[in-house]
Amino acid sequence: MTAITAPRGTRDILPAESWKWSYIISTASRTMRDFGFSEIHLPIFEHTELFSRGVGETTDIVEKEMYTFTDRGGRSITLRPEATAGVMRAAIENNLCAQGASAKLWSWGPMFRHERPQKGRYRQFYQIDAECLGIAGPMADVEVIALSLELFRRLGLKNLEVVINSVGCEKCRPVYRQKLVEYFSSHKSELCGTCLDRLGRNPLRILDCKNESCGHVADGAPDIFDSLCDECREHFAEVRAGLERLGFTYTVSKRLVRGLDYYTKTAYEILSGDLGAQNAVAGGGRYDNLSSAIGGGKIPGVGFACGLDRVALVMEEQGCSFGERPGVAVYCVAMDDESRGTVQALTHSLRMAGISAECDTAGRGFKAQMRAAGSCRFACIVGADERAGGTVAVKNLADGSQVSVKACDVAGYIGGKL
Ligand code: AMP
Repeated sequence: MTAITAPRGTRDILPAESWKWSYIISTASRTMRDFGFSEIHLPIFEHTELFSRGVGETTDIVEKEMYTFTDRGGRSITLRPEATAGVMRAAIENNLCAQGASAKLWSWGPMFRHERPQKGRYRQFYQIDAECLGIAGPMADVEVIALSLELFRRLGLKNLEVVINSVGCEKCRPVYRQKLVEYFSSHKSELCGTCLDRLGRNPLRILDCKNESCGHVADGAPDIFDSLCDECREHFAEVRAGLERLGFTYTVSKRLVRGLDYYTKTAYEILSGDLGAQNAVAGGGRYDNLSSAIGGGKIPGVGFACGLDRVALVMEEQGCSFGERPGVAVYCVAMDDESRGTVQALTHSLRMAGISAECDTAGRGFKAQMRAAGSCRFACIVGADERAGGTVAVKNLADGSQVSVKACDVAGYIGGKL
């Protein structure tokens, strides 16, 4: 029988890598706390409508990337392709933003998109995401961008570029959209098939097409800043001023529109020079219409999602520190078969005292156990003499010194040395 492998676009995060992920998550957790964000856990699958109405019918995600199925109750269910719509749904459902209250929430976990897999792009990938709900003013945008950059600073990422744009609001975007349709219609012969298709449905997306010819046309497209209403213009100016006040450098790109329909006003991305084609480590922005699109009242929001897989890749590439790989401090060794039970009891007593400890459970010989102890700080060795005397030979594996310690004092002795 052929062996079953993981589905295309998914991968196993094995111990050699998973401890690095834990480091990133715990750094994120501390950073979120320092910015006043609370952690939430949400379902991995939601009603399909949440994404078709929230993310947008004409987006790549909804049109061709979702893992959608009918469950046994006949409901259309989708594995979440992104986090924001779910966070907003939860906020509405649980009244987190009732009577003008605001909520700062963060989460992390797997997302699912049926994309073409390549380096840094998977079908099951992981995001760390933060959402600030209920605040319409530009200071919240600045705080969210600052949060993502502070996370990356703590992780030691270098050579990042922050790109920002304003994509307008429901008042000024239709005017801009019309200008784009007129402009791109007069350049149809230079557009790729996908963009021709986008022209009638989602012309803003032509602006970020990676196709070279489309890029040339997009460079000459009308500038959104000529169409922004006063409110959006002012909002963007205040976001820029706020970022500058905090000492962040950024570039403005009128071609940054992002792939999700719910963005209004601020859109931003953080790019890494060390990632190749999939160079975005994080992206986000403001989404003041998402809440009403999914049946809530008017709850403004701004947030970001960062790609955990990609952050780990960049950190690896840049030689960033992941802290110390957590290991077990003590290995308890049985010199003979008769001592195995005593050794397991000793190991358990160390664990109960909060000291990480291991012993052999596979019946391996003394030499193999000592080899296994090699990566630990101490070996606790028990043979016939120790059993008879109620002692343990504690060997310091860093300097090779060895002392005999009463069995009941081992935890205290080692605890004092760690
Ligand atoms: P988005 O939800 O599309 O705004 O993406 C936010 C971030 O998630 C991106 O900047 C990437 O770092 C990451 N990301 C998005 N799609 C993928 C994917 N298919 N594989 C790995 N990371 C992804």
